[in-house]
Amino acid sequence: MPGEFALIARIQARAAGRDDVVLGIGDDAALLRPSPGQQLVVATDTLNAGVHFPADSAPADVGWKALAVNLSDLAAMGAEPAWCTLSLSLPGAQEAWLDGFLDGFLELADAHGVALVGGDTTRGPLSICVTAIGAIAEGAALRRDGARIDDEIWVTGTLGDASAALAQWRRGGGDCDGELRLRLDRPTPRVAVGRALCGLASACIDISDGLGADLGHVLRASRVGAEIDVATLPASPALATAFDTMARIQHQVSGGDDYELCFTAEPGCRGSIQAAMAACGARVTRIGRIVAPTGLRLIAADGSTLPPGRAGYEHFGEGPQ
Ligand code: ADP
Ligand code: MG
Repeated sequence: MPGEFALIARIQARAAGRDDVVLGIGDDAALLRPSPGQQLVVATDTLNAGVHFPADSAPADVGWKALAVNLSDLAAMGAEPAWCTLSLSLPGAQEAWLDGFLDGFLELADAHGVALVGGDTTRGPLSICVTAIGAIAEGAALRRDGARIDDEIWVTGTLGDASAALAQWRRGGGDCDGELRLRLDRPTPRVAVGRALCGLASACIDISDGLGADLGHVLRASRVGAEIDVATLPASPALATAFDTMARIQHQVSGGDDYELCFTAEPGCRGSIQAAMAACGARVTRIGRIVAPTGLRLIAADGSTLPPGRAGYEHFGEGPQ
């Protein structure tokens, strides 16, 4: 069985560089050269087996997702990703698992020009911690605290697919719709969208714990409230076919693992937003507005208010449904 250093060598052999990586994998720390006038943007997320991905997930999907969730955080800030580190806790020195993991991880890293510059490799329960580092022009970052009364609320893509896949997987003893499962296993970080929103959006967040929970963070940081028109929430055909309206709304509002962006912008920015999204080939939907009374209200098509339900996933809360 290969040891720690053989595993690291396996990783190093496949990691691509960048001009601004002065020193990558192999020393005590990496040396990186940020561009003048840019701020660094740093995000870290951990994936634990059985909590963040089903235990039967393909290693390549785990690799993809481990980086995707971090690039999604950079996207939500409007940053351009550049570098990442990878800390792996593995139950054994499984070369085949590592090779599969790297297939997915490096496929996404290469697609975004991200260099893997370091990490750590230890024995323990399967757990993956990735740090992604990006850059943004000084003062241009999209933050949670900029939403203003009368701003409109938008989301990219469709909501609820990943949560629906997980619900089907749990109910069906490991079976679920292939299209929905793809959204759970291979989320698309909206990097180009986030960058295009700089200067247009007043606040932005990525939806990892569910629209209700994550929009709630924006509302609290900005000290405002929101009304969401639930009939406008974008649903994929796969979700709309497999679930009735109430279950669909539950997955869209409270599900999580969407990795879409939710952002706010002044009504006067509507045209520019639609043009910017069309230029990145991204779907975007207006779902509500920022209001003065704090909290989140879900408005049905007939104008009635829906009960908020469980807002989203919380690690030390009740646990996923
Ligand atoms: P140290 O003992 O100084 O922490 P390590 O033996 O842990 O060094 O790591 C040696 C080199 O390999 C370092 O450059 C480290 O960043 C890199 N490295 C270790 N594990 C990984 C990994 N999983 N992915 C990428 N680089 C790694
Ligand atoms: Mg180390």
